[in-house]
Amino acid sequence: MMAKVTATEHAFEVASDAIQMFGGNGLTCEYPVEKIFRDARASMIEDGCNQVLAIKGGYSLINPEWL
Ligand SMILES: Cc1cc2nc3c(=O)[nH]c(=O)nc-3n(C[C@H](O)[C@H](O)[C@H](O)COP(=O)(O)OP(=O)(O)OC[C@H]3O[C@@H](n4cnc5c(N)ncnc54)[C@H](O)[C@@H]3O)c2cc1C
Repeated sequence: MMAKVTATEHAFEVASDAIQMFGGNGLTCEYPVEKIFRDARASMIEDGCNQVLAIKGGYSLINPEWL
């Protein structure tokens, strides 16, 4: 859970920075960064949204028998 949340949030930050570097062009379909950005954003929702995984991960740390 921690790996998924950390990896997807970093992917989103990196993809967002890439959009920033491309400026307005980064949001067009001319360059692959807009697709990478959308995919990175989706990864924070699919396979369990990050907020819920963070709550479950924190709960399992203080209640290890719960897993
Ligand atoms: C691109 C994509 C591909 C997918 N592929 C698959 C697949 O192949 N197989 C499959 O089974 N499913 C798939 N899904 C579904 C995915 O697993 C669910 O979208 C995901 O688990 C989130 O559930 P939900 O969409 O019902 O959102 P919800 O759980 O309804 O969440 C909606 C919002 O409410 C918030 N929220 C919900 N509960 C809490 C809480 N307790 N505390 C705080 N905030 C909360 C969330 O953070 C979120 O912002 C896919 C989703 C996407 C986007």
